[in-house]
Amino acid sequence: MTKMTPLLERNEQFARTYTPAGLGLPTAQVVIVSCLDHRVDPAIVLGLRLGEAPVIRNAGGRVTQAVIDDIAFLAFLTGQLGGGQGPADTLFEVAVVHHTQCGTGFLADPGIRHQAAEATGTLEAALEASVVTDPHATVKTDVERLLASPRLSPKVSVSGHVYDIATGRLSTILDARYP
Ligand SMILES: [Zn+2]
Repeated sequence: MTKMTPLLERNEQFARTYTPAGLGLPTAQVVIVSCLDHRVDPAIVLGLRLGEAPVIRNAGGRVTQAVIDDIAFLAFLTGQLGGGQGPADTLFEVAVVHHTQCGTGFLADPGIRHQAAEATGTLEAALEASVVTDPHATVKTDVERLLASPRLSPKVSVSGHVYDIATGRLSTILDARYP
């Protein structure tokens, strides 16, 4: 018996009607970058189904170097798997999603940030870089950061969105744009 026991029972239900899919292109042609917060699961709030979209999650849904690495790899993989399907000049859209009431907001307080750095061994600067207090502002910063990265494929577009915890609605702040 572990905390996973009830979830393993749900998995058993899931597996009963499961049909496996082969490795192919994500059908929505979208890659989601979002916060790891348990209230903003993109599969639930965007109604994603299996095989539709890769999802990259971290604290705040920030565009870090690790996220840029993952997107570069996904662009490479999509190009390999595509094999001439679809328009040759496009791969996918990256949708950066930040949200209201983000837990990273606590780290905006220098005192708490210092405590968190001591307790976790993470650099204070890295903690500060994860802060989302105004998701409308940070999502713009992160869309621009990704578009400015020399490692972003010119065949990948980027859009920015804010998810409102109070209403369950996702609003587009920046429409999809190529580098
Ligand atoms: Zn969050």
